[in-house]
Amino acid sequence: AIPLVVSISTERAARAGVLVKDRLALESMRTIDTVLFDKTGTLTRGEPALTNVAVADGWTSDEVLALAAAAESDSEHPLARALRAAARDRGATLARASAFRSSPAEGVEATVDGREIRVGGPYLLERLGLEPLAATEEWRGEGATILHALVDGSITGAFALRDEVRAESREAVAALHDRGISVVMITGDAEAVASAVAAELGIDRVFAGVRPEDKAAKVAELQSEGRRVAMVGDGVNDAPALAQAEVGLAIGAGTDVAIASAGVILASDDPRAVLSVIELSRASYRKMT
Ligand code: ADP
Ligand code: MG
Repeated sequence: AIPLVVSISTERAARAGVLVKDRLALESMRTIDTVLFDKTGTLTRGEPALTNVAVADGWTSDEVLALAAAAESDSEHPLARALRAAARDRGATLARASAFRSSPAEGVEATVDGREIRVGGPYLLERLGLEPLAATEEWRGEGATILHALVDGSITGAFALRDEVRAESREAVAALHDRGISVVMITGDAEAVASAVAAELGIDRVFAGVRPEDKAAKVAELQSEGRRVAMVGDGVNDAPALAQAEVGLAIGAGTDVAIASAGVILASDDPRAVLSVIELSRASYRKMT
């Protein structure tokens, strides 16, 4: 009887925009008590826009932006796309970059016009022992993601980027709370950005500044509290955490690596789809235990 029930439910799942890769994952979904959401690209649109630029003495914002965007040429990260789009909007022609290297927690590094350009977040500055530009303090308080640009090891400018929270995310959080399910957010982004987004969504627990390699350990931390965790994510960085969770759910528009590590794939990028999966699981397996 099990295959029949499951095939009916996977058909219903398909109609709800949910692709079940692993039947055990669908079955487990009815017993989870905690949903851990990745922030960027999952609860937010993942399409940040550049809103502010600050520069060090001797630099213009157009120069700093053009160099940073050139250094980000080979990155698929949403922040990289935002910098390239902003540079294009300002009519910049991007110089060729070579020797590109990226570090998921820190940012990118490349040679542009014979100079060593780095673009990255707090972990980059921390490792190099550099202080953020003063202007960024206010942006941080407003919940913007901050990147700094470095030329040959010195800070030349900083950028504020803002990513919109999905309208559906708030509803998803409220509906999960109604069912007695805890909602936790995890992100590699800074604490201030994370708390601003969490407050907007009604999420009361946040893991911020989590390096990609530590995301799975955070899932394990929740599990060691006796929780049964479903993790929802989209990025390469989320893959080990998706695999560690009782149920890993990948956003369909996410990266191939995330999709490969998940038991369930959400065709839409609507976080409310998590509720459809819970409902399907409860409806399909209720009679079988
Ligand atoms: P999340 O966990 O919310 O999906 P990520 O782990 O993708 O976020 O990114 C976390 C942080 O790493 C960013 O906020 C930024 O500081 C830094 N970072 C990662 N990739 C890049 C990049 N291509 N350019 C600049 N900074 C980057
Ligand atoms: Mg992400």
